[in-house]
Amino acid sequence: MLGVKSVSKVALITGASRGIGRGIAIELAKSGISVAINYLSSYENARELLCEIKSFNPNSGIYKADISNELEVSEMVHKIESDLGEIDILVNNAGISQIGLFQDMTSSERDRMIGVNLIGAMNLTKAVLAKMIHNKSGDIINISSMWGEIGASCEVVYSASKAGLIGFTKALAKELGPSGIRVNCISPGVIDTDMNSNLSADDIKALSDDIPLKRIGTPDDIAKAVKFLISDSAKYITGQVLSVSGGMVI
Ligand code: NAP
Repeated sequence: MLGVKSVSKVALITGASRGIGRGIAIELAKSGISVAINYLSSYENARELLCEIKSFNPNSGIYKADISNELEVSEMVHKIESDLGEIDILVNNAGISQIGLFQDMTSSERDRMIGVNLIGAMNLTKAVLAKMIHNKSGDIINISSMWGEIGASCEVVYSASKAGLIGFTKALAKELGPSGIRVNCISPGVIDTDMNSNLSADDIKALSDDIPLKRIGTPDDIAKAVKFLISDSAKYITGQVLSVSGGMVI
């Protein structure tokens, strides 16, 4: 950990070492929020990100944990609380994808995907919830996917995990609303990150032609939506799924 205690709000962003999570970390740090950058294997990326966001908010840190592991998550959350303070904002962003036929997927690949994409968000939520309920305030943002809304061939388990996150968001919002905690979901379309590194330039051009706003998204597009949902401008919004897909899903 490379941070000090702060009086600013504290956000924990899972999978912030790369891609969308990285974009969210930069955006929230720019707003003066202390950021706990969770990573699993990309230590150098997490370190570089921390250096970058320290110019916006020095009270931030990097924290390794496999979000599918409840014990690692619990230890990470205790460390963040002792370093930076209680967690006000949780962004369940970390996720993995795998392309292939459902019938070819092994049970361990299936369990890993559900374990990271769905159980991981539950592990994190459970670990931060007691303090949020005690404080009667908090924001939880789950990063789902358009495939969780409409389903994708050759990404069946991924789609199921992301649909699960939507159900989790809606039910949790009902349960936690009376405790002053809002729970919302963002459903990204195609976003320019390593997760789509299998796409060729021609694939991206063809996809862009089919998207009403004529381009694929950026991590910053998602980060701006997170910033809105955790702001007072969204204080009467909970249990919702915000599609950020350039109109790909309407
Ligand atoms: P990415 O570039 O592949 O980055 C994934 C991030 O998740 C990395 O920081 C990785 O950390 C972290 N991660 C993976 N497994 C983890 C685990 N078990 N514990 C902790 N961290 C873990 O992916 P992305 O495109 O930014 O996607 C972010 C989220 O948006 C995912 O939930 C994804 O499903 C969703 N999404 C993405 C798109 C898209 O088009 N890109 C579209 C819809 C939804 P390390 O590198 O440190 O291991």
